Amino acid sequence: MSKFRFKALEIAQSRQAVAVAAPADRVADFFGSNTFNNEVMRALLSPEAYIKVTEAIQTNGTIDRSIADEVAGAMKSWATSKGATHYTHWFQPLTGETAEKHDAFFDITSDGKAMEKFKGSALVQQEPDASSFPSGGLRNTFEARGYTGWDPSSPAFLMDNGAGGKTLCIPSVFISYTGEALDYKTPLLKSLNALDRAATSVCQFFDRSITKVTPTLGPEQEYFVVDRALFYARPDLVLAGRTVFGHQPARGQQLEDHYFGSIPPRVNAFMVDFEFESMKLGMPVRTRHNEVAPGQFEVAPTFEEVNLAIDHNALLMDLMEKIAERHNLKVLFHEKPFAGINGSGKHNNWSMGTNTGVNLLAPTTKPKENLRFLTFLVNVVKAVHDNADLLRASIASAGNEYRLGANEAPPAIMSIFLGDTLTKALGDLETKSEILLNKGDNVYYKLGLTRIPSLMRDNTDRNRTSPFAFTGNKFEFRAVGSSANSASTMTVLNTIVANQLNQFKTDLDNRLARGEKKELAIVDILKEYYAQAKRILFEGNGYSDEWVEEAARRGLSNIKSSPDALAVYVQPESLALFERTGVMSHAEVESRYEIELEKYIKTVQIESRVMGDLAMNHVVSTALKYQHKLSQTARNLVELGMIAEAEPIKDILREISSRVIVIKRQTESMIEARKRANNVEDTADRARLYATDVKDHFDIIRYEVDKLEQIVDDEDWPLIKYRELLFVK
Ligand code: ADP
Ligand code: MG
Repeated sequence: MSKFRFKALEIAQSRQAVAVAAPADRVADFFGSNTFNNEVMRALLSPEAYIKVTEAIQTNGTIDRSIADEVAGAMKSWATSKGATHYTHWFQPLTGETAEKHDAFFDITSDGKAMEKFKGSALVQQEPDASSFPSGGLRNTFEARGYTGWDPSSPAFLMDNGAGGKTLCIPSVFISYTGEALDYKTPLLKSLNALDRAATSVCQFFDRSITKVTPTLGPEQEYFVVDRALFYARPDLVLAGRTVFGHQPARGQQLEDHYFGSIPPRVNAFMVDFEFESMKLGMPVRTRHNEVAPGQFEVAPTFEEVNLAIDHNALLMDLMEKIAERHNLKVLFHEKPFAGINGSGKHNNWSMGTNTGVNLLAPTTKPKENLRFLTFLVNVVKAVHDNADLLRASIASAGNEYRLGANEAPPAIMSIFLGDTLTKALGDLETKSEILLNKGDNVYYKLGLTRIPSLMRDNTDRNRTSPFAFTGNKFEFRAVGSSANSASTMTVLNTIVANQLNQFKTDLDNRLARGEKKELAIVDILKEYYAQAKRILFEGNGYSDEWVEEAARRGLSNIKSSPDALAVYVQPESLALFERTGVMSHAEVESRYEIELEKYIKTVQIESRVMGDLAMNHVVSTALKYQHKLSQTARNLVELGMIAEAEPIKDILREISSRVIVIKRQTESMIEARKRANNVEDTADRARLYATDVKDHFDIIRYEVDKLEQIVDDEDWPLIKYRELLFVK
């Protein structure tokens, strides 16, 4: 009997929901209480420093040394008064996790006394030991210096270390001494600036009072929850974050009764707990619900400025992992932890807001504003059309590869859903022939723009199978992986839209210089763009096979493997695009490409090792023991003269043998494939071998193992089964 599995099941089944107390009666009483927010700054800083800091935040400006000293002093006294003993620059290196290096607030004076100290210089800049973070060749290990720099636009916050102490975390960028970005945040901030500049100058054609455009993001986060004891009884979950084996349960997702059903009490307690903690950290987490698969859930915050939303998402993921421990649960952020069951995404809801309070992707009742709306809408469509492969590259990862195009996930084909009304409006705009204006004609009326108010947000007009869907007043990019840091995707999206808007401005300026009427010129350009880009629009079922065929006919790419998808980053057009918009230099893009490939290789390598180990040491050995038991039974039957009765048992014995043989041979040949791949110098070639030669074995081995799971006595099976993992009470 499999002792480990049954022990774990016993533990999991005996657990109760952990009670969670509200920090205060009203959310307003604790929301943001663990952040160094505006209110705290206003109270603790001199009026002069307060104004300078808020100004710098709004304009992405710099903060001079004397102000930095004052802010550092205020941060220190605020943090220590709330129990903080350490501070750290909190940053997002390209490993994909967040990083921190804690320093104590106190220092030893020359006469050996301890004193608390935190200077402006330490706030503004730190030098972590950067050698252990990936740099994709930008920084050799012996030139391991890189530094982190304070990002004032994201508020500092207090993190509980668990053991009582707290740490003041200062959101930061991470760059090399030669100025290259070593993190996700730096290019993101640059892309936000690029988009602000481009969008603002386009807004100027419509409304002179618009001087700033802020991209906004609301990331819906999907995840699975499993019991902690069961998690540790599955080495594949522990090491690879996903199950490499497991037969689908009889009662799976088919019933779909889990979606919007009631949340299990233990999971509910966990959610309430991390929501409280998130709110203390100023994160506006708002919705919680069950997702499609059993054991799968979603959390969504109210949207914020993109940089802040991404910091908050990274922090939320950290927090969820920590708080899950208190509830004896484990959160799985992997895109596809269970085969045959819905995967997890991070739906990036994205739009752009102006300093005048306008959402540029919201249709309005005023024709003039609708021309502006259409301008932004069509430019986004054109940007996505022209750069679909780059957008696809931005979501490439080993985990997402299992999800894209599998059950209930958008395929690797980029397409846009706009909804009936909008598609029709754009069609009308395109087919409307030359418009002649007589004096006194209302230009908007003639352009058909007075009809657009009927576009007003319609919630029934939804398509949940589109990777990039317009949802009334924003776009939802649904193909982003659940474990991803959204910064890569947002950097690409901001950059391609910025680039497109710059192009639009140039096109419009040219027409205006020729003396064309502004509104007509805009409509003409939009018509042109629409005609060039409309093949990317798709309203049907994005999960269907017909769409894959149709997309191929339309000439849209369907790049399935991550190494192929990532290669788009370093194509000359992509490099030029990043350079032109000032978002990344060639060296920075190339280093990122290298790092992503390395990550891919490592991930597949780990999966492959775990698979080989489990297959041989757990599955085959168990199957052979079971076979031995059965052969005793068969022999006994024969001895008793029950020859015919022994036959079916012999069939099972043969089946076990044949499956064991396939598993053994395939495992050996997979190891050989790994060896061959590891001998390949070029990273891209090596990654491609992992994506093909190594990975090709996965499904074959898995198939046989999952069949054995159905044959071998349940009592003996060593791995926690899907039905046990997926149903948390
Ligand atoms: P649903 O998609 O279920 O209708 P919502 O429309 O309320 O839910 O929003 C889903 C996510 O989109 C939320 O995180 C929300 O804050 C975000 N969102 C709403 N408006 C915007 C916007 N203008 N920019 C970015 N995200 C937005
Ligand atoms: Mg969702």
